[in-house]
Amino acid sequence: MLPTKTIMNIDEEIKKAESTIEYWQERIKNLKKEKQTTEDLLCDYIYRGFAISEKSEEKILEWETEHNMECRNRYIDYIFTKTELGTALSVICPKCKKELTGLCCSSDPLYSDKE
Ligand SMILES: [Zn+2]
Repeated sequence: MLPTKTIMNIDEEIKKAESTIEYWQERIKNLKKEKQTTEDLLCDYIYRGFAISEKSEEKILEWETEHNMECRNRYIDYIFTKTELGTALSVICPKCKKELTGLCCSSDPLYSDKE
């Protein structure tokens, strides 16, 4: 019995399958590029903030607990001041003006305690 498909038919099917593979390979390549761009943007966004040292964070939480017993205001302002030595951080209650200074932070995302 003779085959129902001609060699040309089979070649055409191969061509179609190859173009489908090329399409999906290109699609995967573009999606990977998009993923990388999204990750880069996310990292830039995260690292745009200031890293507060662990010791400073502990001091702030302690200060907040103490402050919240005396003042009804639950919101505090974080003030970052650029100085010649780096960035100074203080927290202040906008209502009673109680302030905590001498805190450490950095715009370096890998910053840790150097106090
Ligand atoms: Zn207060």
